[in-house]
This record gives sequence, C-alpha cells and structure tokens, in this order.
Amino acid sequence: MKKIALLGSTGSIGTQTLEIVRNNPAEVQVTALAAGSNIALMEEQIREFRPAIAAMWSETAAEELKIKVADLPVRVVSGMAGLLEIANQPEAGMLVTAIVGMIGIRPTIAAIKAGKDIALANKETLVTAGHLIMPLVREYGVSLLPVDSEHSAIFQSLQGEDQKQVERILLTASGGPFRGKTRVELTEIPVAAALAHPNWSMGRKITIDSATLVNKGLEVIEAKWLFDVRPEQIEVVVHPQSIIHSMVGYVDGGIMAQLGTPDMKLPIQYALFYPDRKPLKGKRVDFFALSTLTFEPPNTEVFRGLPLAYQAMAAGGSQPTVYNAANEKAVSLFLEGKIKFLQIYELIEGAMAYHKVIDNPSVEEILETEEATYQYIRRTIS
Ligand code: NDP
Repeated sequence: MKKIALLGSTGSIGTQTLEIVRNNPAEVQVTALAAGSNIALMEEQIREFRPAIAAMWSETAAEELKIKVADLPVRVVSGMAGLLEIANQPEAGMLVTAIVGMIGIRPTIAAIKAGKDIALANKETLVTAGHLIMPLVREYGVSLLPVDSEHSAIFQSLQGEDQKQVERILLTASGGPFRGKTRVELTEIPVAAALAHPNWSMGRKITIDSATLVNKGLEVIEAKWLFDVRPEQIEVVVHPQSIIHSMVGYVDGGIMAQLGTPDMKLPIQYALFYPDRKPLKGKRVDFFALSTLTFEPPNTEVFRGLPLAYQAMAAGGSQPTVYNAANEKAVSLFLEGKIKFLQIYELIEGAMAYHKVIDNPSVEEILETEEATYQYIRRTIS
C-alpha cells in the first residue's frame, strides 16, 4: 500500500490526485491533506479519505475546520508549521506537492530531508530553488517524479535510455487561446477570454500563464533542473492539438515522444505508481479522427513570456524567482481587472531589469527576492 501526503488537495491537481486514490483504494492511501482556505471541500475530503493530519493555511480556517471535523480522529494544523508537519509525517512515503507558488519550497525540502519521494506539480519550487532541491534529491537518494504533463512525457520518453545520449528536449506547447494573434489584438483582452484554454482544464493562474506562454517559460526552467540539460538544448514546439505531450531527441537523431489525450490524471497516476502503469479510464487517442498533428515555432515577439524565461535562466541565481514572482503578482492583478493582458509582460520585464541578481540564493534570499519583487510591482502600478 502506497501512502501519500497531499499539499493542495482542493485544487485542480489535488482533486484529480484524489480521484486516482478513489479509483485505486487497495493500492494507495492518503495520510495527510493541506489546502489554503476551502474548508467546505476539505471537510468532504477528510470524511472520505480519513487522513491523520489536515492543514489549512489560515489559522481561522483551521479553527473552523477543527469544529466541523471534531467527530473524527484528525489533527488539524495551520500555516507553514502545518505544511512542515505534513512534510515530515512518518507514515507517508511520498509527498504530492500541488500547491500554488513558492510556499511549496520549504515543505518540499523538509520532505526530501525526511527521505520521502516527491511527486511535483508545484513548478515554482524548481523554478526558484532548483539549485537547492536537485542536490538534496541526490544527497538523500529520493525520487523526484514530475507531474506536469510535459515533464512527465519527457520522463516517460527517457525510460530505458541513457540520459547522456540526450541531444535535445522538445517541449510542446498548445499555444494557448491567443495563438496566431498580433500584439495589437491582445491589447484589450478580457479576463474570461484568457481563462478559456482550448485543450486543458486547469487552475486560474496556470490558465493565464498558458495564454501568456509564461507557463511554457516556467516549464523550460523546470526542465533544465529536472533533466540536467543546458537551456540551449530545450526547444519549444507549438503543437495546438496537445496530443504529443513532449519529446526527447537523442544523439542519433531518433526521437521518443509520449502521446495521449489531454488528461492530467495520466501524469499524476504515472508519478504515484512509477514505474508501474495502472489502468485509467478515459478517452483514447483516435488517429483517424485527428488526421493531422501540426507544429510551429512559438511567436516570441508577441508572447514574450518565453524569451523572458530564457533571459532569467541565463542570468541565473535569483532572477528566475523575479520572473516567477513578478508574473504571479501581475497575473493576480490581471485577474482582478487592474492591469491589461500585455502589462503582465511589462511588469515581468521591469522587475527583472530592476533586480540585482543574487548568485546561489538561499531559501531566505529567494523569499526576500519574492517580497522585494511584489513591492516593486505594487510601487509600479500605484
Ligand atoms: P489550483 O489553484 O487549482 O489549486 C491550488 C491548491 O493549493 C488549492 O488546494 C489551494 O487551496 C492550495 N493552496 C493555495 N495556497 C495555499 C497555501 N498557502 N497553503 C496551503 N495550500 C494552499 O492550482 P492547480 O492545481 O492548477 O496548480 C497547482 C500547481 O500545479 C501549480 O504550481 C501549477 O503550476 C502546477 N500545475 C498544474 C497543472 C494543472 O493542470 N492544473 C498542470 C501542471 C502543473 P484552496 O483551494 O483552499 O485555496
């Protein structure tokens, strides 16, 4: 029986992870759950999955939850201390980290040090702290299993191969809802249009990131850390059908790819049960119905989220943190209707130009950089 602790259980990845647990009751059990403030769903999840610990980010939410689940043997905790308690919980062999933002760094580090495998959806952790996380993964001999569909596809395409023979990583991108649009056409984009992703159903923040291609930028940085490749070995290929989830090109010119319908449950399940594959119900790829798969280069003039990520990677150190934090703040301002779509890029670019890069930042320096970037954005828009 595999035992997992799940951070971000009420979100898009979290609820799909629990669907997999629900469908495989004899194989996987949940020992701890954590969320931000959604008490109602957390209560339902506790009643169904019976974890030993449940964490809410806010203390008030935790107090309210405690009253609601007083009839159950569950310990309710809160804040960073709560997330760290879950990361250290001895019963779980794996931490599934599906929270949003850099809040994921500390629990991930704690779980690695406690000898747990990590199923990682929370890309911000690797983007900002990859230089700290990857050496720890090696030092503690744990597995870091990617949940992101592209990285899972790359991981699957690497199975049985020698990583030293990798020539390039071909990271596919759907292109998002605004593929083919000009800068002028993007000046007055309403929030609802940016939230309408053509292929994937995801959380709000990552859906906007897909529209700006910042999500692809974050994935490029994540891929560099996960697969130990140089930035110039990572190519982004726009593939609007989202059937090929990414590919690996080898030194002999051969390419291995992973294909499937767009369904996050496959990569989540692959990470949970790796190296096993379990049955998964759902639509199958029908090549005759598809008939064409198309590919094109990304338009980096319009979708500057991507070149800015390469720029952040080249600068290294704390600059990917600035790229990520500036984007996080800019996206929430866009969702609140306070800035326009293209201003997301302007704010990221401005924050990166303003920042003085710190080499090899510690967790504290990463979090200070995050806060300084938020302050920069607040000053800029006020
Ligand atoms: P959602 O916004 O749907 O869910 C976020 C989850 O994190 C919720 O459970 C939320 O709780 C919880 N949370 C937020 N803040 C805190 C906090 N301070 N403490 C504890 N829990 C918190 O996000 P997604 O599921 O879409 O994405 C999660 C991560 O996975 C992101 O890093 C994203 O980039 C990555 N990812 C997502 C994919 C997808 O298909 N959705 C694909 C690949 C990667 P509450 O509901 O209470 O606010």
